[in-house]
Amino acid sequence: MTEYEAIIGLETHIQLNTITKIFCSCKADSWFDPPNTNICPICTGLPGVLPVLNRAVVEKAVLLAAAMQSQLRPLSYFDRKNYFYPDLPKGYQISQFDQSLAYGGYIDLPMPQGYTRRISIHKLHIEEDAGKTKNEHGRRLIDFNRCGVPLVEMVTGPDLRSADEAAQYLLRLRQLLRWLGVSEADMEKGHLRCDANVSIRPKGADYLNPKTEIKNVNSIDAVRDAINSEIERQIRETEAGRRIEAWTLDWDEETGKLHKMRSKETEADYRYFREPDLLPIRIDDAWRDQILSQLPELPLARRQRFREQYELPEYDAELLTTERGLSDYFEAAVKAYGGDPKRVSNWMMNDVLRMINDLGIGPGELRLSPQYLAQIIRLVDANTINVSTGKALLAKVHQTGRAPDEIVKEEGLAQVSDDAAIRAVVQAILEANPKEVQSYKSGKVTLLGWFVGQVMRQMRGKADPNLTRSVLEEMLAR
Ligand SMILES: [Zn+2]
Repeated sequence: MTEYEAIIGLETHIQLNTITKIFCSCKADSWFDPPNTNICPICTGLPGVLPVLNRAVVEKAVLLAAAMQSQLRPLSYFDRKNYFYPDLPKGYQISQFDQSLAYGGYIDLPMPQGYTRRISIHKLHIEEDAGKTKNEHGRRLIDFNRCGVPLVEMVTGPDLRSADEAAQYLLRLRQLLRWLGVSEADMEKGHLRCDANVSIRPKGADYLNPKTEIKNVNSIDAVRDAINSEIERQIRETEAGRRIEAWTLDWDEETGKLHKMRSKETEADYRYFREPDLLPIRIDDAWRDQILSQLPELPLARRQRFREQYELPEYDAELLTTERGLSDYFEAAVKAYGGDPKRVSNWMMNDVLRMINDLGIGPGELRLSPQYLAQIIRLVDANTINVSTGKALLAKVHQTGRAPDEIVKEEGLAQVSDDAAIRAVVQAILEANPKEVQSYKSGKVTLLGWFVGQVMRQMRGKADPNLTRSVLEEMLAR
């Protein structure tokens, strides 16, 4: 049987998180607003109005282009993309065609299997979004709120080889968009939309077969499922001796099936021409430098630096750089702590991350500051408090916003490392539990943990656990 490989390219639409729309001053994000409340004559395309370009759109798009290693065009143009659809009131979309803001570039995808796939970027341009239609009770309803919302369209080369790589691309892109602060990149809210072009060929062949385009997938899992299902369909068709037609397919999330929408249009159908109402976008060196001064260290570079500078294992470095805020928090805590960065990493991965997830907040919203976290770790290192008191302190500091050492002092949480105090408690517990002492002595040594627990309970968790253990072992051996 022939072995096949998949050739996949992705086209993503990224909603930039500007306050206002691309060509008017209407509010850009309408997720929580009723239909048709953030509209004006410009974004609904009434006759006689003139669009005015929002500077922030260009700045965010330039940041993204730089992060994708794309070439910026100092001069780029807007074009009209003509098509008729009820949710496009002007009858055309303002987009960029042949002279887009940027071109070329790439993103590297470190795959869980250990290899890295480099995905080339064909084209990166800015455009306005169209409205939304939905069918309800036999009527077609149109919401113009989304008209004029700023988008970046980014098209990859046919470089992806599996549904998993496509999913990884979206994961890394979403991470990057949030890292740069240019988009919320929430697929469920349509901030990041993806169409996938899929074809197959015998493994090792160097030609391209006709491709199909999958539209309307709105989660990373759905993209993976839809592409896998389309690869399987194309292999089935090819094996049965049928040809693959260049269809556009629609993914139905509920049934997990692809439906044929239409035979695909070509670019020529859009009758592009230059937008006469807008000046070209001119990015001179001064403006470009000013924008790029905001470009942060990128996630993969920071991950690599964490491995080298802090000698973190790959797993830690990956987890701590999923979000920019988290990696900033980590670095601040390491600096405040001054000791082994791996200690800080452990506390973060085991406890701080869980707190953040449970509370559903960002690291920046924690009242447990990186400095307070460092202080708690130092208190544990110095044996002033034991580990479990330290862990309990994390939540206490977040709730009260007070310094850990103050809380320790006020609540008398300091660990009891006083040999005599622990001995007295152990003595009392052994006397009160002769049966357990007997079982222990006749070989059931696992009871030691139970005795430690009794001591801890009596001493309200403040006993030094190591000391407790050795005192118990000694006194039980008598
Ligand atoms: Zn408007």
